[in-house]
Amino acid sequence: MKITRARSWVVKQPARKIDNQLKIKDRGFVFIQVDTDEGITGWGEITTYPGPVANRAISAYVDQIGSWLVGEDPEDIERIWNKIFRGMTYVGTRGATSAAISGIDIALWDIKGKMLNQPVYKLLGGAVRDKIALYCHPPEPENPEHITKHAKDIVNAGYKAFKMDPMMHHLHVGNSTFLDGEISADAEEKAIEIVAAAREAVGPKIEILIDAHGLYNVPTATRLANRMADWNIFWFEEPVPAESWKALKQVKEQVKPLISVGERLHTRWEFIPIFENNLADFVMPDITWTGGITELKKIATMAEAYYIPISPHDASGPINVMSGAQVMMTVPNFYKLETSRFDLSYYNEMIDKPLNIKNGDLYLDESPGIGINLNEEYLAANEMDINRPIEYDPSAD
Ligand SMILES: [Mg+2]
Repeated sequence: MKITRARSWVVKQPARKIDNQLKIKDRGFVFIQVDTDEGITGWGEITTYPGPVANRAISAYVDQIGSWLVGEDPEDIERIWNKIFRGMTYVGTRGATSAAISGIDIALWDIKGKMLNQPVYKLLGGAVRDKIALYCHPPEPENPEHITKHAKDIVNAGYKAFKMDPMMHHLHVGNSTFLDGEISADAEEKAIEIVAAAREAVGPKIEILIDAHGLYNVPTATRLANRMADWNIFWFEEPVPAESWKALKQVKEQVKPLISVGERLHTRWEFIPIFENNLADFVMPDITWTGGITELKKIATMAEAYYIPISPHDASGPINVMSGAQVMMTVPNFYKLETSRFDLSYYNEMIDKPLNIKNGDLYLDESPGIGINLNEEYLAANEMDINRPIEYDPSAD
């Protein structure tokens, strides 16, 4: 079997209501399609941030790399992974390159599963569990009343854990900016009120995960985490920007809550200092950014050797959820898989069957590959013209 084409799709899903009431803006997704000369197509995903610019940029990057894949045997997943990784060494092997590899790698595993008529998890060592525990997000909370309502909705849907950024309301340009790492006193007090309201709303047994989005300096992150410990938060995520593991070390050594990092760490090499220096209690790589199915399995095994649970990050689309779940079916040291919302029915128009989620758990079946296929008619109907000029809005998806 030979690869005949590898291409990206940037698609835009129109604004809609989700979770029965919540209106969300239109948002973009980046999917990868790898075709073969035997009629088998594999699907991958990269969807990244900030969407209007980053999705277009990564799409163009993948399409250029795609020319290297034509004529390759899609079964040579490890070799193709290394071919791209080493080929792009001057451009940089993390970030855009690891994301491009991720989307292609997921599609190649999908092809292999379809060739062998097996789900990917059976090709990665077989299942160690029969379902994948999920956690999800409320809309980012604006005030205590807001989180009270949405936290209760999540618990009523059967979820045992959810994640929020109670500081998000003070950010004026999305969640990817950092200048001084400070937070105003007013915003900090409001964040604490939101955490208190969330705990009050759901009682002591629900796990409340706090995401700091890598936005704070050492003293600010340390103070926020320790204040929130009074409400028994489950973890404090990405306290500081990803570039300095020594800053993370300072925070880790001074805070009471458990620490989780990893969505901005790409490939197994960037997890070495985390494990070697005891910098995290959980790791949370994103399968669409860190190197795909191949790399997530390797990072999970590294974490296992340190008795660190892994909890894949996901803030995007259905391929991210399903490919992460395929790997986690085989991983002993799995905590929970992230999903954006408790109601993921807004994926349904893109895929050939709904995700099978009950009471906060995702169930996989014997479907080959990653277990779902994208709807090509939907992709074609919603494809964005990436050459059309856009007005940059870093807060948009
Ligand atoms: Mg996060």
